[in-house]
Amino acid sequence: MADWEELERQCRECTRCALAEGRTNCVFGTGSRTASLMFVGEAPGAREDETGIPFVGAAGKLLDLYLGAVGIARDDVYIANILKCRPPQNRDPLGVEQDACIGYLRRQVALIRPKIIVCLGRIAAMGVIKDDFRITREHGQWFTLNGRMYMATFHPSALLRDPSKRPEAFMDLRALRKEIREICTRTY
Ligand code: URA
Repeated sequence: MADWEELERQCRECTRCALAEGRTNCVFGTGSRTASLMFVGEAPGAREDETGIPFVGAAGKLLDLYLGAVGIARDDVYIANILKCRPPQNRDPLGVEQDACIGYLRRQVALIRPKIIVCLGRIAAMGVIKDDFRITREHGQWFTLNGRMYMATFHPSALLRDPSKRPEAFMDLRALRKEIREICTRTY
């Protein structure tokens, strides 16, 4: 617990990149700190900056819908982003910003020790799975790195912009649900 408190305090007081100057809130992460499943998004948007909670804007509402459709409760998972502060006008995170921030995510993963990490969108997949990740080609595929399973699917904002990708995203989440069931029967 002390580790979490210290990490969250450091994150909230962070000035490692210029985004600190523009933030209303640092969006540290929410959910179960003992979750087997973790989702990683890109960066907070306007609503997230206002509230300090990840995925509460339009993209978050869609994410909730998808999680609900495959029987995953938000409270049972942990949700965080590559960047903890909002980039201006929601532009893509810069390399220097990601380099400054990724340590917080790494420490969150080390504390939670999830069995599965699902990256939401290309930026998260490139930051977490591999730096040449191709979301169109590689979404829904499983990767095993250091004994942990990883998958990426489309970012909910991309699904808002392009609804034709929604059936594929739904299939990815159904595959995730299946894997969770298998892990549960293997473990318990
Ligand atoms: N998009 C993200 O990647 N993360 C959020 O928290 C909200 C929108």
